[in-house]
Formats: sequence, structure tokens, C-alpha cells
Amino acid sequence: MFKGLSERIGHSLDRVKGRGRLTEDNIKDTLREVRMALLEADVALPVVKEFIEQVRERAVGQEVLKSLTPGQALVKVVHEELIRVMGSEREALNLRGRPPVVILLAGLQGAGKTTTTAKLARYLQETEKKKVALVSTDVRRPAAIEQLETLAGEVGSSFYRAAEGTAPKQIADQAMEYARRQHADVLIVDTAGRLHVDEDLMQEVRDIHAAVEPLETLFVVDAMTGQDAVRSAEAFGQALPLTGVVLTKADGDARGGAALSVRHVTGKPIKFMGMGEKSDALEAFHPDRVASRILDMGDMLSLVDEVERKVDRDKAEKLGRKLKKGRGFNLADFRDQLEQMQSMGGVSALMEKMPGAGKLPPGMANQFDDGVIRRQVAIINAMTKQERRKPAVINGSRKRRIAQGSGVQVQDVNKLLKQFTQAQKMMRKMGKKGGMKKMMRGMQ
Ligand code: GDP
Repeated sequence: MFKGLSERIGHSLDRVKGRGRLTEDNIKDTLREVRMALLEADVALPVVKEFIEQVRERAVGQEVLKSLTPGQALVKVVHEELIRVMGSEREALNLRGRPPVVILLAGLQGAGKTTTTAKLARYLQETEKKKVALVSTDVRRPAAIEQLETLAGEVGSSFYRAAEGTAPKQIADQAMEYARRQHADVLIVDTAGRLHVDEDLMQEVRDIHAAVEPLETLFVVDAMTGQDAVRSAEAFGQALPLTGVVLTKADGDARGGAALSVRHVTGKPIKFMGMGEKSDALEAFHPDRVASRILDMGDMLSLVDEVERKVDRDKAEKLGRKLKKGRGFNLADFRDQLEQMQSMGGVSALMEKMPGAGKLPPGMANQFDDGVIRRQVAIINAMTKQERRKPAVINGSRKRRIAQGSGVQVQDVNKLLKQFTQAQKMMRKMGKKGGMKKMMRGMQ
């Protein structure tokens, strides 16, 4: 998301960034380009107008023109205004109520409600240590109910299945009872999808809302739908007392307009962003971090959060203890690291969040991607236990055997061993200096 917007804004700001002096004309030209970039990213017109007006007011004032580094000051103003448009502060879910606290999800069909239900369940279980129950009231699409039941099994939440023929409102009532009996902390209610805004279905979701009295009523919206997202947000906002928005498919090449418009249109904060189809692809929405991502200032904080969440703590701690004891980092440890990297979507997913990554030539990050990591893991798997523990024993004939066993060339095995040696050097340094946390802090 934001690729085009980021490039266009970056390009226009780059031209003024280093300037020691700016005139009102320079600023006018730059703002015209930013305005075009926002419109092309499908940001709603009233939002664009207000945004540009705010930046203009501040830019022609003392703050920028009189600054010692006016170009930088202008970038700062654009950054701050982007943050403001997206709601300023990170707003977390409100779960302060008598359990089971209810979260209701509503939105158009295909927006990603069911997927988001499972993602939220996993998120609440992993980060908030909550016990979560799920229910679907989508009686028109039995397949949707089954899809959620399967997902509940995958993420380890309990699931309430009503008898066939039960009406949506009754399902919601029964699910409340069920969640109470289960001593669940949170009940997430997935509602029927609608292809477009339809009065009967709106009434249905209003009835469910009245039955379960949710603390959170989240509007789920597909970032790919641009201006349509804004229209459906308005309609749902009128029908339901929304408390927040989940922006899905933010991993795709959506132009990003919805992210910038939806707060303004609904008056409600974006609380989460869906970043993929899997159940762990959900990110808390931080306006400041997203603004930094748009301006290609990197997003190290989200990256740190993600690493903290996904790194397998047990393995990391075991490795830490091992390093402290002075026992060497071996190929089995290297394999664990590669697998962990894979679980985070490979290097290119990480790179997207790093400062300046937008400027890398395309294809560069792919060098370390999924396929490559998988091959490296296969090479290590083809080794004997002894070889993994003591790579020094790997001579020419062993290399040929390993290459054959993993279906690669000997030079690939050599390459892997070289990368391992580099990783080993780095681990030695980290073992001395105090680990991953410190390294990540250094990168911010
Ligand atoms: P619902 O009709 O609103 O319940 O939508 P679903 O949850 O069934 O999702 C519709 C499609 O969008 C499915 O193919 C999902 O895998 C996909 N999807 C949902 N969220 C995301 C996301 O954040 N990123 C991507 N890439 N796909 C998503």
C-alpha cells in the first residue's frame, strides 16, 4: 500500500528538502504536486482539500519560511498533518467491561470480516492473554459459518455453532450464553456480509447490536476499494454506533486513499490493519508510523513489535543462554533463524518497513526471499546432526553429498556456509553486547 503515493510525495518533497531557502512559489508548486498525489491515491476530495489547506497555512507561516532548514521543516509539517488526518494517536480496543466483552464486526461481503475475526482472536489471545469465543450470524451463507469454525480451530478459540434454522439475533443471544458458560473474556461476533448497503441486512445487524451490546463495533473495510470504501463507511456509520475501523488488505497495492479518508468520514479511529490472508497478519494501526511509511521514513517501531511478537521466545532464550555460556552458534541454530525469518514473510516484507527501502532497486530484496530461505533450510536438513553441530567437518565429499541430498549445486552449499560464517560472527558480537533488543534499539 501507499507505493505510488509515497513515491510521488517523496519526489516532490525531495526537491525542496535540502533547500536553504523556500519561497511561497516553491511551496505552492510542491503543494500542488502533493495534492495531485493524494487525489491519485483515491483520497476523498474533502480530505485532500482540508489537508492541503492546513499544510499551506503552516507552510507560509513562520514555522517553515523562517526555519533554518525550510525544506526539512516543510517535510515535518506534511508528516504531522498526515498523522493528524489518520487520527493522531493509536487507539487500542476497549475491553474494559464485564466479561464476556463483545466485539461486533460489520462490513460489506468480501471486506475480510471472517478473516479479521480470526486474526483479532489470535491477537487478543497472544498479546492480551484473553480467552476468546467466536460466533458467526451469517445464516445466508452456511459456508461462511464453516469457514469461521475452521479458523477458530486453527487459532485455538472456542466457537459457538447454533442449530440450523436459528435466526441471527437468537444466534447472538445464545452465543452470549455460551461465552458466559465458557468463561470467555471476549466474544467476537462476525455478521452477515452484504454486497452493497441493503436496508434489511442493516436492520439485522442493528438488532444483533442491540442484543449483544458490544463494547467495540468495528467497521471492516477493504483498502482496495478506495472511494467506495468511503461511501460504505458513511452508510455503516449512520446505521451503527461504530467505535472503530479495521482496514484490510493493506498489504496489497491499494493506493491508500481509504487509510487517509476513513477517519475523517466516520470520525472513528482505524484500530487495526490487515496485512495478509494468514491469521497473524494483523497490525495495530499507529498513525505516526503509517505517516512515516508514506514519507518513506521507515517504520522501525512496527518492525520491532512484529519481531517481538513472532520471534519464538523459547528458542531465542535457549540460543541466548547458549551464547552466554560460550557455546558456539551452529548450523541448527542458523536453521532456526532462517525459519523464523520465513515466518515473518521473508526479508522483503521486513525491508518494506525500513527507512529508504522504497528506493532499493526492485528485485534486490527478493534475493533473500521465501524460495531462497526454503532452499537454505533444505541444504541444512540434508546434513547429518554432527555436521550441523560442527560445520568444520564438512569437506569436499560431504559437500557433494549434501548438494545431492538437497537438489542443489555444490556452490550453493558453499554460499550457505559462507552466510553461516557471517551470521556466526554477528551472533558472537551480539552474545557479547546484550542481544537482539539492543541491536534493534540501535537501528531506530
Ligand atoms: P468477509 O466476506 O467480509 O467475511 O470476507 P473474508 O474474510 O471471507 O475475506 C475475503 C477475502 O479477502 C478472502 O480471500 C481473504 O483471504 C482475503 N483477505 C482478508 N483480509 C485480507 C488482508 O488483510 N490481506 C489480504 N491480502 N487478503 C485478505
